[in-house]
Amino acid sequence: MTAIGIMGGTFDPIHFGHLRAAEEVLQGFGLKRVVFVPSGRPPHKSPSEVSSAEHRYMMAELATADNPNFEVSRIEIDREGPSYTIDTLREFRSVLGTDTKMYFITGLDAILDIHTWNDYEHLFDLAEFIAISRPGYSVESLGTLEEVIGPECFSRIHHFPVTLLAIASRDIRQMVSQGKSIRYLVPESVRLYVEKGGLYIEGDKKKFWLPGCID
Ligand code: ATP
Ligand code: MG
Repeated sequence: MTAIGIMGGTFDPIHFGHLRAAEEVLQGFGLKRVVFVPSGRPPHKSPSEVSSAEHRYMMAELATADNPNFEVSRIEIDREGPSYTIDTLREFRSVLGTDTKMYFITGLDAILDIHTWNDYEHLFDLAEFIAISRPGYSVESLGTLEEVIGPECFSRIHHFPVTLLAIASRDIRQMVSQGKSIRYLVPESVRLYVEKGGLYIEGDKKKFWLPGCID
């Protein structure tokens, strides 16, 4: 049976922690492809703390352009309202039919919050979850999650250790705002896009200024 991976996130910006983990999951689970799904309007974050969806989408496209097994979906960006994973998985399921297995890929930090996601119990009917390791989060914490969501949902989560890369978008944004280099944390294309657009620099957010350009 064909299987694909779906990796949701804010990707503000996408970095090598996301990309390397996706590559290892792709190989480890024999996936046909991994689809990155930048959140349009992350329900857990206030709009003022997140860059425009178009910037985040562009960076995801740039970062994955050289990998034939990686794709980026606009599904959450083009949908109205808050970006709920349940809606995304339903849309994927209706397009893919029942012959394709879906794995939703999250870091350990994200999976530990899964019980706060909209309609979370039904997420497990639509996809299995791959919980990738992330520095600062122990596998033991998954035990607590089992108590919260119950054994049935929990059995649909596969813990998968990946090369630990202590990279976080939050730290990258902070580095840029402090004038520090982010080289070797993100693909060059992303680093150059951040620089060109003046992203993450206070009061310097209007470098794409022509009408029709993203801001
Ligand atoms: P932020 O600091 O803004 O929250 P982030 O680095 O956590 O950004 P997200 O876009 O929030 O990136 O993450 C998308 C998904 O990728 C989440 O499931 C998250 O757990 C996972 N992830 C992010 N960074 C890593 C990493 N370095 N290693 C493993 N998983 C990661
Ligand atoms: Mg995060």
